[in-house]
Amino acid sequence: MAGDKHHSVGSESVKVDTNSIKMTTIASFAIFAIVLITLFWCLFNYFIGSYYQTLRTQEVIRTASMLETQYNENRSSFDEYALQTADANGIYIRIDSGESTLMYDGTSALKSSSEFSNDIDNIKRKLDRSPLGSVMQTEIGSGKGNDSRLLYGSHLNTPNESSVMYIIAPLYPDQATIKILRNMLIYISVIVMAIAFILAFALSRRIAAPIENITKSATELSKGNYNVKFDGAQFTETKELARALNKASYEMEKTDFYQREIIANVSHDLKTPLTMIRSYAEKIIDISGDNPEKRNSDLHIIISETERLNRLVTDMMSVSNLQSNNVELHKETFDLVRAAEEVYESFMVLSDSEGFEMLFHPCKASYVIGDRSRIMQVMSNFVSNAVKYSGENKYIDIQLVRRGKIVAFHCIDHGVGIPSDEISHVWDKYYRTSANHERGIEGTGLGLAIAKGILNLHNAAYGADSEEGKGSDFWFEMETVKKPSSKSKGPKETQGKSGNTDSIPDEK
Ligand code: ADP
Repeated sequence: MAGDKHHSVGSESVKVDTNSIKMTTIASFAIFAIVLITLFWCLFNYFIGSYYQTLRTQEVIRTASMLETQYNENRSSFDEYALQTADANGIYIRIDSGESTLMYDGTSALKSSSEFSNDIDNIKRKLDRSPLGSVMQTEIGSGKGNDSRLLYGSHLNTPNESSVMYIIAPLYPDQATIKILRNMLIYISVIVMAIAFILAFALSRRIAAPIENITKSATELSKGNYNVKFDGAQFTETKELARALNKASYEMEKTDFYQREIIANVSHDLKTPLTMIRSYAEKIIDISGDNPEKRNSDLHIIISETERLNRLVTDMMSVSNLQSNNVELHKETFDLVRAAEEVYESFMVLSDSEGFEMLFHPCKASYVIGDRSRIMQVMSNFVSNAVKYSGENKYIDIQLVRRGKIVAFHCIDHGVGIPSDEISHVWDKYYRTSANHERGIEGTGLGLAIAKGILNLHNAAYGADSEEGKGSDFWFEMETVKKPSSKSKGPKETQGKSGNTDSIPDEK
């Protein structure tokens, strides 16, 4: 990581970042290796004796049983077999029958054969007292512990004679073997430590590298360089992180672009009426002040520009109130079809004056719960947009469609349409499609943002389907309720935050 080490100027002191991936990985591997090595040594030092004893005991019991079988079944070759077994296992074997005593000594380290006689007497006594056919005991050596032995005695089940077999097995591995094992363990420890460090170093570099890359790219992005690409290398997690950051950077670039556009558009929208007001006021002072007719006409222009400014500022306030949920809804049950018809009628005047052909397709009466005037404001906005963006094709369809319990309002125009990559933004505040700006169509880019806020407050689904050059269909859907009985027309239900009743103008 970039912050792994801090070189302080003027001194050689180096500060290691213990929280870095590299240091954490190396420390984890080192701890793992140390625990493993300590375990090896503990096992070696403390358990090798008892482990060896357990193995030896099992081996002696197995050997005794094989010797017994051999003795009973193949007496002629028993001598050779017993000698080999004694040598191979490093044990002392003695068989006392009534007539003879057979001895096979495969131990070289401990005592001379004659010195085992005490042990033999010892087992014999135990065997005589024991109800079982065999006895086994461990004799701890008096010296440094390297002459401990395992004593074993058992009656041989021979048919004609009574014989006893004794086995004496030294219990401690000899010092040479222990030295070899210890040396091996030292090598193993060194190798394990070395492998752990190499692995830790390699792994930490591989893991840290993509994160360092991503950090570098993020620093670039924070400086406003949107061309930067995040690379997550081969790990799934870092790849996912890089993908998410690439997406975030793309969105940031887009937002940045739109914000700059918005500021340009809003300043333009505010500046135009202000310039007009100033120019006409100057004109009145300089030219038309003495001519009442011209002066009045100029003053009317000033008034209409002030109204335009007022509308813009009111819309701005509406959007901000809707976004902060600071609005009051006057909910009631009303017939959406009738409300739509009223909106249609208010626009009918255009049919005559501006040559629009507007058609209304109602469905059966459909009652919904909501703020009637605000829902009418949404419908008016859709229709006024259809009028504004109709272009040459001045044919507009207002449809109400009933599907089960849902009633949908559609405002369909056959005008300029919206490019597919811009359609998701038309509901954003201050957004105006690029084409409309070029055409110089007047607007604030706030109408649909206000509609969106109102529809969201009503939990209504809404959307826009459009094809550039062919027209658009702006729609919303509401759930219907039963027609209210004429008696139950009580006071209107009020919902939402209080204190701001004039936040939304009646019409855009
Ligand atoms: P405006 O005041 O600009 O009309 P709106 O929020 O009502 O603001 O609409 C946002 C933008 O969506 C408009 O500027 C226009 O580009 C686009 N738009 C809205 N309705 C239509 C439509 N019926 N046809 C084409 N474009 C539309």
